[in-house]
Order: sequence, then C-alpha cells, then structure tokens
Amino acid sequence: MKPIHHAYHLASRAHQPENTVFKLGPVHIGSKDLAVIAGPCAVESEDQIHTLARAVKSAGAHVLRGGLFKPRTSPYSFQGLGMEGLDMFVEAARKNHLLTVTEILDPEHIEALYDRIDIFQVGSRNMQNFPLLKILGALDKPILLKRGLSATIEELLSAAEYILLGGNRNVILCERGIRTFQNDLRFTPDISAIPVIHRLSHLPVLLDPSHSVGDREAVLPIARAAVAAGADGIMVEVHPHPDQALSDGEQSLDPGAFSKLIAGVRLVAQAIGRKVPS
Ligand code: PEP
Ligand code: MN
Repeated sequence: MKPIHHAYHLASRAHQPENTVFKLGPVHIGSKDLAVIAGPCAVESEDQIHTLARAVKSAGAHVLRGGLFKPRTSPYSFQGLGMEGLDMFVEAARKNHLLTVTEILDPEHIEALYDRIDIFQVGSRNMQNFPLLKILGALDKPILLKRGLSATIEELLSAAEYILLGGNRNVILCERGIRTFQNDLRFTPDISAIPVIHRLSHLPVLLDPSHSVGDREAVLPIARAAVAAGADGIMVEVHPHPDQALSDGEQSLDPGAFSKLIAGVRLVAQAIGRKVPS
C-alpha cells in the first residue's frame, strides 16, 4: 500500500490515476459526457414540479433537482415541503425519465428517501458534517458533495475522503461559489477549482452556476465558462415563474432561458470534444 502523504488519499490522482467514471442514466459521468442537473431550488407544488420536469427534460437535462428539506439562513424563510413533497417530486421525474437528486439535511431522512431518490446531495453548509459523511459513505448510492462556501479544495477533497473511506466510490464534487471580498454577486464562482481538482483528484466535478452568482443574468455565461474549463457537468436552478419562487428566485432561470443555456453549453462542449448525451 502506498504511504498516506495527504489529508486525503483515496480521493487523490496519486492513488487512482484514471478518472472515476460511473453511469447516471445516459451519462457516463467522468468521461467525455457532460451531466446536466436542473430543477427548482425547492419542490413547491405538484403543478410546479411537473411543469418543470417536462421543461427541463425537453431541454436536455438528465437529472431533476429539487430540495425537500432546505437549509435556509433564516429560520423564518421557507424550509421546504419536507416529506410531503417526495411523491410529487419522484413522480414528476419518473414520468419524464429523469433521475432525482435531493439534499440530505438529517440522517434520519435517509431511510425514507433511500428507495426513491437516485443521488443524495450534501449541501455546502454540511460539507464538513463528518457524521453525515460517514453515514453516506456506507451507502451504495451516488453522493453529490458541494464545496463549503469558505472551504479550500483540500478541505473539499478531505470531505470526499470520508465518503470514499466508507466504501462508497460514487462521489461527484460540485463547485458552487466561495466567499470573497467582491459583493456584487452572491458568491464568486471559482472556475479555477475545476482544473485544480482534476489535477489533484480522479473524481468528477460539476459547477453550480446558480448559487455561484445568485443572479440569473450571470448564470448562462458562468455555465459556459465552467464547461470550457473542463467541468463534468452543471447543476442549474430553474423555475416556471422565477419571480414567484419561494426560494432563490433571483438566480432561477425560466424554462426558455434554460433551453438557451443548454444550447450554449452544447456549443462549448462540442468545441472541446465533449457532449451532452441525449
Ligand atoms: C442547493 O443546491 O439546494 C443548495 C442549498 O446549495 P448550496 O448547498 O450550495 O448552498
Ligand atoms: Mn437554491
């Protein structure tokens, strides 16, 4: 066995020189394929989630995102529908042949979500929730691990190591913007994290342009930039009526803008020899 030099070992390129590749529906994530995850910040109603599932599928998305339990900064903000939103979320996705991803806030919810949800998300605020990471490491389900909003890349890869160490090798990293001194946007998208992570680790890495910028006008250019920089996919917030969204409306695209985003992403992908599988 090679000696452990780093805070992380299983996550490192030194340990595994070839990319981790696994199947997410039609996408071999970690290969030349790009994964597109899209949907609302939070599941709000039957009508909202069914409309969106249809719209993002026809635009070319592979995975439907939707928060059931929302980690909100203020306890007075909408906290998500919780388990009440589960059936409508899963049904909307299945009807449109989409996979599902939702954030796990509390390990107590895992049992109820396990058979229904395809990918479990660890949100930024929980990137270093080590007991949660250890529990997810014992599962055989892909984990989407978001970078903490003030976390270094070493801290992100060390968090991934907790999951890998438990035996779960299907980890997808996600850059989602970090705190810097600029205050014109919600966070600063760290595009440079993508090539750095690819150098240090074999794990696939996505970029979430929505939380990175917090402003729907900036989502499209940052999504294109992420793909140009080598991201293995994107995760985008979409809402049928962004101005009426119960959370993160300012950064949500409507279905028309999302279709334009996918078209732009396809062009960039083609230019660098990658593709968005249909
Ligand atoms: C989300 O993607 O639903 C979310 C809450 O994002 P983050 O954890 O990156 O803030
Ligand atoms: Mn959100």
